[in-house]
Amino acid sequence: MIRSIVRTTKGVPATDGAGVKLTRIIASPELDMIDPFLLFDRFESDKPQDYIAGFPTHPHRGFETVTYMLEGRMRHKDSVGNEGVIEPGGVQWMKAAKGILHSEMPEQEAGLLRGFQLWINLPAANKMEDPEYQEFTADNVPLEKLAGGGVVRVITGTTDKGTTGPVINKPTEPLYLDVSLHATGSFKQSLPKTHNGVLYVIDGSIRIGETVIESGELGVLSPGDTIFVYAGAEGGRFLLMAGKRLDEPVARGGPFVMNTRAEVLEAFEDLRAGRFV
Ligand code: FE
Repeated sequence: MIRSIVRTTKGVPATDGAGVKLTRIIASPELDMIDPFLLFDRFESDKPQDYIAGFPTHPHRGFETVTYMLEGRMRHKDSVGNEGVIEPGGVQWMKAAKGILHSEMPEQEAGLLRGFQLWINLPAANKMEDPEYQEFTADNVPLEKLAGGGVVRVITGTTDKGTTGPVINKPTEPLYLDVSLHATGSFKQSLPKTHNGVLYVIDGSIRIGETVIESGELGVLSPGDTIFVYAGAEGGRFLLMAGKRLDEPVARGGPFVMNTRAEVLEAFEDLRAGRFV
């Protein structure tokens, strides 16, 4: 059963952290969530005033955050002693779970900063586990060459040709691919029926069935098991993100995403009482 596009969205301009300008594509008034994806932001600017304030220390509980950098460098630091710099092509996959306090600050005062942050929900059974990190530089993200000159960077999951990304994630078994196609290129990938999927076009354009998705647009996939993507006239680069539907109640409160309102209030109380380490 071939998947098609059921809707597209460009997202809305938003400000987060201490004043970082970004585009909010999931968790916007247009698109609340695509289970298990809770939020998807694109930050892209060569004006330091748009990003320099960064994301000073803030908490998370109940989900995972995935930062994928295309240009520029971002330093992260947290309350349990982890610290590092995410560089172009690198990914940081943070399972916040029961709670973490961290900061994410640009490691540059000029130049282009370009990247994405995705929030993936955790099932109730995993929300209060210990935090974990998986971090990989560009060298450790495998490249798969496509016929026709395209390339797939595999962050997590396995392509139809058998290339597996370095990030391991059991709760939602996600697929996260960065696919670049030349003008005549195409790409086929199977996605389990249990998974929702979205595509975000970074450059150029792509076509799925009858739907053309332009640079800066997110397309939401219909149910099914396989996708066929065709490059637009100028070629196309896109992120393909898919994850297992949790079908659980979602209660959001700022940086916390739990199953019930009471659990969100408990998270605020734990933060106030200093129980986030
Ligand atoms: Fe954060």
